[in-house]
Formats: sequence, structure tokens, C-alpha cells
Amino acid sequence: LHFSIFNFQFAILFPPTMLSPNEALNLVLQYAAPLRPWDLPVDDAWGHTLAEDIVAGVDCPPFHRSMMDGYAVKLADAGRTLPIAGEVAAGSVWEGELAAGTCLEIMTGAPCPRGTEAVVPKELVQRDADRVTLPGSIRVGQNIANPGSDCRQGQRILQAGMTFTPMAVGATVSLGITRVRVIPRPMLAIISTGGELAPRGGDEFMAPARPGQIHDSNGPMLACMARENGIKKPWRRQVPDRLEEIVHALRCMELVDIIILTGGVSVGTYDLVPKALAEYGAEEIFHGVSQKPGKPLLFARKEGQLIFGLPGNPLACHFGFHRYISAAIRILSGGPAVSDSFQGELTQPLQIKGERTHFIPGRAEYASGSPPRWQIEVLPGASSADIFRGCAANCYVEAPPGDRTMEAGELCSFTFG
Ligand code: AMP
Ligand code: MG
Repeated sequence: LHFSIFNFQFAILFPPTMLSPNEALNLVLQYAAPLRPWDLPVDDAWGHTLAEDIVAGVDCPPFHRSMMDGYAVKLADAGRTLPIAGEVAAGSVWEGELAAGTCLEIMTGAPCPRGTEAVVPKELVQRDADRVTLPGSIRVGQNIANPGSDCRQGQRILQAGMTFTPMAVGATVSLGITRVRVIPRPMLAIISTGGELAPRGGDEFMAPARPGQIHDSNGPMLACMARENGIKKPWRRQVPDRLEEIVHALRCMELVDIIILTGGVSVGTYDLVPKALAEYGAEEIFHGVSQKPGKPLLFARKEGQLIFGLPGNPLACHFGFHRYISAAIRILSGGPAVSDSFQGELTQPLQIKGERTHFIPGRAEYASGSPPRWQIEVLPGASSADIFRGCAANCYVEAPPGDRTMEAGELCSFTFG
């Protein structure tokens, strides 16, 4: 009797027309939208998606810049021996004009005084105390960078939608710009649910697990994955399997962009997350994906807020973030939709069983050959709870549904992460 009730519940939760992993991902992408832009100081904006074009308000360089350590000279003095009238260091300005028959010692990055026609590098002159002999031929403008020769005032150096890279930070700052408009990173909260979770006393302190308890390993694992995805400070919370406590935790996180719950999304008596989400007022988009691990994956939303219910099993949890949540974070952050999937060769046979798409942790190594290619050692865990073998993995291999053995040397697609 118990078995048939279980099956009945199972059929309701996971009807035969369960979403494929791609259909599920498409729904996530469909409901995710870039966040509203805001201004950040340039070095905090690093790595974000630009929400505005960056246009040069000034010329760069801003003055006639000496490109060498050498001497500022007139062309007519080529081949002559001249007195050195003074020195222009980087950061200083020679107020007078360069007079014919004299030269000025000048450093790289210093502004050329008025009247300078060329800079002759130190290596090309002969110096004798405070006089120098110039080479016989000097080109006009030699070793002088004109104002605006690197970047003209009014030039668009970066476009909205581009990533604000370290080089872009440098270019922007060199134009004197201190704040830029970017798409922020989403605020993200992780709620670990489960009556079996040993309480956490803080980031440093972990309470010992009493009999029947386990450590909340999903919380820290997901928080680190969020940080890998550019989220500085994901919030974390732990709640037991009690409806009102889950709902309360959700209400406390009303302002965040993404809520991740772990545990309690399956068919057990105490799997209360779907009910809590309904009470919280979220709209369920899907519950159940034809994949292994992580079949009970739940996706819901409340206005702009995206909510993911991940199964408590650690490998399922890791995979759920890897495939679905990281894609959502990228879109909310204004980035491209999905990470690239690659093709690689299996190094050993892989047996697949059942009607779900399998995602198996693997280790991809770039192997020499002609052409060089990715070779993948699969590291299947003992169960959806097993994150121990997967620790050595750097990717997930995707194996289509159906009973069959993929042979060694066969091509498979995989994603890094
Ligand atoms: P559930 O999805 O609640 O049915 O949990 C599935 C399995 O994952 C159970 O063995 C739980 O004890 C385990 N589990 C649930 N939450 C966590 C967590 N935060 N960290 C590690 N394991 C968990
Ligand atoms: Mg549970």
C-alpha cells in the first residue's frame, strides 16, 4: 500500500511529460532579465557588464608627450653640439619656449615644451658635461606622441554590454572617469532547509553533529559557487523542516534577486518547500526535470525574484547551481546566457541507464595529438549525495537518455564548472 501511494504522489509531482534539461534551462533564461543599472566606482565596477558607452571627454595623451628619455630639439640643430638649457621631468611643465641652438633634457612621459620639433633619444647623442652633440638626421615629430593620438576626445572606447575588464578600467581611468554605469550583480540568499542540519554558529564555528544530524555542507558549497559567479556576499540561513519557519525565512529575503533553497523539494512528508513557496506567494514555473542528478529541481518566481529549490543531495545541489543558477546569475548580471559546451573524448566506457539525461562529473584534460583535444575521465559518484569522487572533477559530461554504453574514445559534450 505504502509503495502505491508513493507512486501516486510521484506521478503527480513528476508526470511522464517531465521537462527535459534544455526545456527547463530555457524557462530559467526566459524569466531572467538584466538588473537595473547603477553607478559604481571604476575599480568596484571591474568584471561587471557596462550599461553605458564610455566616451572620451578629453584627448589622450592630453599634451605632446615625450616617448623617450632624451633631448627636446629643433630640426635645424641636427648634427650640432648644443648647450643643455634645462630639464623637463615627467610631471613638470617647462613654461618657456625651446630656443634654437639649445636643447632640453626630457624624460619619458614629460610634456614637450613649446617649440619642440623632435625628441632625440639619449642613446643617439653624445654628451659631454652640459653639452650634447645631436645625430645628423632628425625626423620631425620623432618620439613625440601628439595630444589625442591614443584616443581623441569624443571617441567611444567601450560599448554598453561589454565586460568592464581590467584593461577597460585602465583606459577609463586614464580619461579621468571615476564612476561608470554597470549592471549590478544579483543579491542572492541561500536557505538550507532540513531538520537534520547541525546548527551553524557563524562562519568560523561549526557545532558538532549530534546523532542523526549532518553538517550543512550545501550552504557553504553554494555560497562559494555564488562567489565564483561574482556575488560578493551571498546571505545564508538555516531552517528546520517547519512550514512557518521556511515561509518566514523567505519573507526575510523578499528583497534579494535570487533565493536558493536546498532540501525539502521532493516527495517526503517533510518536504515542505513547494508548500512554503505557495504560501509566500511565489508562482511555480516548473518542478521536476528529467535529469540525473537533481530530478526534483524546482523553479519559481515572485515578481522579479527568482527562486530555485534544489534537492538536498549535495551532488544534485552542485549540479543544479552549475547548470541553472549560474545561467540565471549571468543573465541578471547582463552577461551572455550560457557557458560554452565543449566536445571531448571519453577515456573509458560509460554506462547509461534510464530515461533521464545524465550529467556526470568528469575531469577534462587537454591532451596533445593532431589536433589536440579534450579527453575526459568520468568520475561517477556512488549516488546523488556523493561529492567525494566529484571533488577531482572540473566539468559535467552530458549523456543523453536511454540504456546504452558510451565507448572509450566516443565524443561527448561537457561544460566546465
Ligand atoms: P531532501 O532533499 O531534503 O530530501 O534531502 C536529501 C538528502 O540530502 C538527505 O540525505 C539530506 O540529509 C541531505 N541534505 C539535505 N540538506 C543538506 C545540506 N544542507 N547539506 C548536506 N546534505 C543535505
Ligand atoms: Mg529533507
